Amino acid sequence: MPTYKIVILGGGNASGYAARALIENGLKAGELAIITEENYVAYERPALSKGYLVGAARLPGFHTCVGGGGERQPPEWYGEKGIAYLTGSRVTKADLATKALTLESGEVVSYDKLIIATGARPIFLTEFKTPGADLRGLHYLRDVKDADALVAAMAATKEAGGKAVVVGGGYIGMEVAAGLAANGLPVTMVFPDERLMQRLFTPQLAAVYERLYEGKGVKVLKGVKVTGFAGADGKVTAVEYVAAAGGEAQQLEASLVVVGVGARANVELFAGQLEVAAGGIKVDGQMATSVPDVYAIGDVAAFPLTSIATGDVSYVRQEHVTHCRLSAAQAAKAVMGLSPAPYDYLPFFYSRVFSLSWVFYGEAPASTTPLHFGDTEEAKTFGCLWLGAGGQLVGAFLEGGSAEDAALLKSAVAARVAVAAEGLDTASSAATLAAI
Ligand code: NDP
Repeated sequence: MPTYKIVILGGGNASGYAARALIENGLKAGELAIITEENYVAYERPALSKGYLVGAARLPGFHTCVGGGGERQPPEWYGEKGIAYLTGSRVTKADLATKALTLESGEVVSYDKLIIATGARPIFLTEFKTPGADLRGLHYLRDVKDADALVAAMAATKEAGGKAVVVGGGYIGMEVAAGLAANGLPVTMVFPDERLMQRLFTPQLAAVYERLYEGKGVKVLKGVKVTGFAGADGKVTAVEYVAAAGGEAQQLEASLVVVGVGARANVELFAGQLEVAAGGIKVDGQMATSVPDVYAIGDVAAFPLTSIATGDVSYVRQEHVTHCRLSAAQAAKAVMGLSPAPYDYLPFFYSRVFSLSWVFYGEAPASTTPLHFGDTEEAKTFGCLWLGAGGQLVGAFLEGGSAEDAALLKSAVAARVAVAAEGLDTASSAATLAAI
């Protein structure tokens, strides 16, 4: 039975960043194995819903760590470093008491220390028994295999003059709808919320992006609940829906459907063996779980985060690549016995759609006052600041702007600077940014 000093279970982006950080902190050849079900070594997952859909990104071009400004780590890189990267290898059992992982092949791999990086998977509509959810033509997007299937389906749909429907108005919904439209497909987005990205966007922010999408020919059907899918010969032909407020069932023609209705952390392998929180694996500020020698990083890890707005600490999962990279680096130090200072994370999200690109730092609690700024008509540089009771900045959103502007907002949120909102010329993004 092969035994490694460290095993990373899960070959997502976090595994590649952890491997790099482990080496930086003294890992030697032969000490690490990474086990993944995917057929590829770690890559920058964000590319799949952006460049991949318009043909601008293909492996091996976006292997980890190019997105984080680091060296590209193709399969040879791991070989040169003496890291065993077991691709196409599904782990069917994880026994944390005996430190043994059983692979689908029957092989057992054991470890001294385990880093869980099993990530998350899409929420599938079959889980809700939505009629027709198992028809061909319904796509989800999580890995390269999904992205390849989607790229092929886009080409076939275009060739046949078919229509596309995107279910969901979050990250996948917005980015994939933009990708489909960029490929010349007629697209309709359907989601139950009142606006795009309702979790983060204020009505004013959402209105700008909705205008942009409509301008690019994407129909945005808000406040709509998908009730099922109609099909012929096992393939989807229409999306069935009703208004969230009720009423007549309606149909939208669709030969290609992409569903992005959220993600779920992959925790099932560890059921009953680890403490859980927020749907993930509970870790402390060292990314250590409730079981000695077992760590968790990336989407699956629920870590303690101090709220900028309230100062309260709660366990959260952050499904974002920045947390993936930073938690990997944190766990690598802890695993190598370096006892780093507790993980201190500033929530950060970003997206790129069509020619637009936004960043968000901090929190956008409903209890704070959003202060919009910039020119939302021209949709070039604009944003929103979320100010707490004392005028202190707890969250900041910026569309467009420079890297320096984004860095300014990031540090201002981290420092909770007070913003003098009174008399501010919010029509000018330059004046607003200068006041921070
Ligand atoms: P999100 O949580 O971003 O969005 C899910 C969307 O689906 C929300 O608008 C949600 O509405 C809506 N929804 C929920 N249930 C239904 C339903 N039954 N029918 C229609 N709509 C529904 O998840 P995604 O699927 O978009 O993204 C999956 C993962 O990928 C996330 O981890 C995300 O962070 C990541 N990702 C990140 C990107 C980035 O950072 N730029 C890009 C692409 C993916 P409601 O809010 O009301 O629940």
